[in-house]
Amino acid sequence: MHQAPHPANEHLVIVGNGMAGHRLVEALAGKPGRPARITVIGDELDPAYNRILLSPLLAGEMARPALTLRDRDWYADQGIDLILGERVTDIDRAARRLTTDSGRTLDYDRLVLATGSRPARPPVPGLELPGVEVFRDLRDAEALIRFTQRQAAERDGSAVVIGGGLLGLEAAEGLRKRGQGERAQDQGGLRVSLLQRDDRLMNRQLDLTAARLLENELRGRGLDIYTDAELERLEADGQGRVCAALLADGTRLPASCVVVAIGIVPNADLGRVAGLTVDRGIVVDAWLTTSDPAIHALGECCEFEGQTFGLVEPIWRQVEVLAARLSGETVDGYVDAPCATKLKVSGVSLYAFGPTEPDPDHEVLSYRDPQQGDYRRLLLRDGRLEGVVLYGDTASGPWYFEQALAGCDLTACRAALLLGAADAQTLLDDASNESPQRPAKEAA
Ligand SMILES: Cc1cc2nc3c(=O)[nH]c(=O)nc-3n(C[C@H](O)[C@H](O)[C@H](O)COP(=O)(O)OP(=O)(O)OC[C@H]3O[C@@H](n4cnc5c(N)ncnc54)[C@H](O)[C@@H]3O)c2cc1C
Repeated sequence: MHQAPHPANEHLVIVGNGMAGHRLVEALAGKPGRPARITVIGDELDPAYNRILLSPLLAGEMARPALTLRDRDWYADQGIDLILGERVTDIDRAARRLTTDSGRTLDYDRLVLATGSRPARPPVPGLELPGVEVFRDLRDAEALIRFTQRQAAERDGSAVVIGGGLLGLEAAEGLRKRGQGERAQDQGGLRVSLLQRDDRLMNRQLDLTAARLLENELRGRGLDIYTDAELERLEADGQGRVCAALLADGTRLPASCVVVAIGIVPNADLGRVAGLTVDRGIVVDAWLTTSDPAIHALGECCEFEGQTFGLVEPIWRQVEVLAARLSGETVDGYVDAPCATKLKVSGVSLYAFGPTEPDPDHEVLSYRDPQQGDYRRLLLRDGRLEGVVLYGDTASGPWYFEQALAGCDLTACRAALLLGAADAQTLLDDASNESPQRPAKEAA
């Protein structure tokens, strides 16, 4: 049986040098009790970069160097071995040894899987054609940038983005903006169409009104948006490259590039191969430990209490727990909590959390100023906020989110709630000065 060494004497191996894996290294670097020997293996060629910023990179709003989180020298300075461009293909749990696609083997005392996720692919004929791209990593972003440059040189071109969620919108707007930037103004930009299967954009975050405001804004910029669009197949040209997208209603959209952005699938294969408990993701407990006590998983590859992850906020909280655990500290377990959504399309401000549709017990407060382009809709239950959609002025978003998380009774400031954080907080303060408010839990 393997005797567990003290964390400080362990060899910790982290698989994945993405957002979660790198953040874990940063957290460990600051801890006195961190494992003495740490090796990081990632299959991308570049050291960890900020994946979130791929959207502004594609749009031409940011340059490549700004994305780098740390370079190889930093890892060396921390005494951490960094192996890049190699994919871990096998884990022998009995021997505590892993193997990479180059044939390298590496022994570990403790292993962290931070392998992220991959783009989901709809079961549609033609998806394997050259010219069909995804938008997940730096290589994908660079391929899309090269595509816009080729199209500019040929003075002709169109792209179709499949998926009207956050990622699809950022990809479509990025392509449109960069396509426009690559051309002389009188030549117009790259023609970009966006297909959304649902009746509205960002259907998991927005109500219909906010989704229509967003749609109108993006149409005004030149994006062609198709909602209720069922993709039937992709068509190839004479050279076997993708040349069109065909919809179920017969619409045919020319496309020299198709970007698939319909969602993500956790990269749990390594966990499966190793015989760990895997459902949609690699199943972990509140301390990010898998069914093998020597193996942890975090980020988009893991699953906790039936939930998988697609935003960094919960992942950062997972990192704190795991870094403390790996350094021999006592720490409370990870607790899942709601997240708010923002869209990274410049010139569009929206902020949303909670249910998109009211249920019969919700009180709905809404406000719209078409001239300013402002829209706010709040869902309250028994005076407590459960859902918010803000379009235009989103400055009060974080305050609303805080109130919702704390379960505050907002009855005292209801009259000012739609006016924003400052007015509402003043009323709340006045009310609590008159009669100190009971804590939310007690009041409930
Ligand atoms: C374009 C874009 C924009 C985004 N914008 C936002 C945003 O605004 N806000 C937000 O909260 N989130 C955003 N996200 C999501 C966010 O980037 C992810 O939640 C985050 O990157 C997840 O971190 P991770 O480490 O789990 O996965 P990743 O960052 O994907 O890292 C996993 C790494 O593991 C590597 N890997 C996989 N398998 C192996 C293997 N077998 N061997 C070796 N290496 C392996 C992968 O290549 C990858 O480098 C965005 C994502 C994209 C693609």
